[in-house]
Amino acid sequence: MHKWTVAQARRPEAVGQEAIVQGWVRTRRDSKAGFSFLEVNDGSCLGNLQIIAPASLPNYQSEVRHLTAGCSVRIEGQIKASPGKEQATEMEAYKIIVLGWADPESYPLQKKQHSFEFLRTIAHLRSRTNTFGAIARVRNQLCWAIHEFFQKEGFIYIHTPIITASDCEGAGAMFQVTTLNLEVVPRSEGGSVDYSQDFFGRPTYLTVSGQLEAEALACALGKVYTFGPTFRAENSNTPRHLAEFWMVEPEMAFFELEDTMDLAERNLKYIFRHLLEKCPEEMEFFRQRIDPTIIETLQKILESQFIRLSYTEAIEILLASGRSFEFPVAWGKDLQAEHERYLTEQYFKSPVILYNYPRTIKPFYMKLNDDGRTVRAMDVLVPKVGEIIGGSQREDRYDVLLERMKEQGLKIENYWWYLDLRRFGTVPHSGYGLGLERVLQFATGMANIRDVIPFPRTPGNAEF
Ligand code: ATP
Ligand code: MN
Repeated sequence: MHKWTVAQARRPEAVGQEAIVQGWVRTRRDSKAGFSFLEVNDGSCLGNLQIIAPASLPNYQSEVRHLTAGCSVRIEGQIKASPGKEQATEMEAYKIIVLGWADPESYPLQKKQHSFEFLRTIAHLRSRTNTFGAIARVRNQLCWAIHEFFQKEGFIYIHTPIITASDCEGAGAMFQVTTLNLEVVPRSEGGSVDYSQDFFGRPTYLTVSGQLEAEALACALGKVYTFGPTFRAENSNTPRHLAEFWMVEPEMAFFELEDTMDLAERNLKYIFRHLLEKCPEEMEFFRQRIDPTIIETLQKILESQFIRLSYTEAIEILLASGRSFEFPVAWGKDLQAEHERYLTEQYFKSPVILYNYPRTIKPFYMKLNDDGRTVRAMDVLVPKVGEIIGGSQREDRYDVLLERMKEQGLKIENYWWYLDLRRFGTVPHSGYGLGLERVLQFATGMANIRDVIPFPRTPGNAEF
């Protein structure tokens, strides 16, 4: 007999076939006519498989009539055409084996709607709900689309290290990695921590970005991308920041800033198109439950061209807006979420690529423009979420880079290998980082980034 997922058993072509289906009971209803309906879900799709459990089953009274939400079952039966409008098929059970009971007194997922706050406290179970099951499937399709996009564009998938010794890349605070005994930290004579006794013989951290190593590989392989977890110890408790998040970082030799903006725009459009094609049920669910405009918004993005605007022009628009922002607008100050939202939601009603930021607010590795005041940075901003991509053309001139590193107080000796890339066959190159969870938030309308990753890591929270 076939072992089918619920998704397979729900296909109209399945009618007439016999199969085994396994999953978790969502609900049970007993009919007066002496049989029961079970709704079974296995995470393969949003919809449940409706099971008809006849009273003639040997364990009908002893077990089937006691099934409640959360119980796991294996069912053998025949797929029939369903008279219901919601689904094409249902299954008539010959045999129901209860794999695991779930005490209804203590099983926390009852039929009522639970708040996202509550569901975060049971993150180990929340993927059994419609919303979090849908998020997981959308996340999967987005990752698939990301790989497909870069592979089609001729990129090589690389892996950059998670543990790094570069102590500051300007991207954010870092988590230290150590095997030193924190109760009795070894000290050198001057009293400072003796890192020669640490695992790597020097201070090390969880990476905030794979960019610097990706640059080294781009300067050998051409177009590369790394896709992995990144860590930031910023104490920012916002709906858009995680301490551990996933980032896609393409890095391209021989790309100028404009090429990079083109790539970023193609990248986003590709993955959103893929999502609309591959997850219509999930997207319809998000439209009904989370954000009524979500499908329209994504479709509009596929058809429109992103606005491209220099930082200086953006400042002029913000100053001329007549708005009183909480954070005052001035050339040289970084844009805050409220400014990004004004531009994307009110003024342009579109994604915006902002470029050429002041050198003083951007990291050392971004290429200095001829005006001496701005660097070749670009951020892709979208309505509601704000920044989803941050990138730049990299400084490829040895002297200028060294100057910028000194200006920003970096320990030059840690970056000897990075500087080497400018000493030996330097080339113009560029790249960006796309935050997977920010993209997921934008694509689903989910308000809080903690709800688009299965087990969120945020200040004070590393449960599960
Ligand atoms: P922000 O200004 O929003 O804090 P950033 O400028 O520090 O972000 P980058 O260093 O440019 O971020 O990182 C590249 C991308 O990674 C961002 O555009 C965003 O999509 C994502 N990202 C950055 N920080 C976080 C975070 N703490 N949690 C989730 N995603 C993040
Ligand atoms: Mn950024």
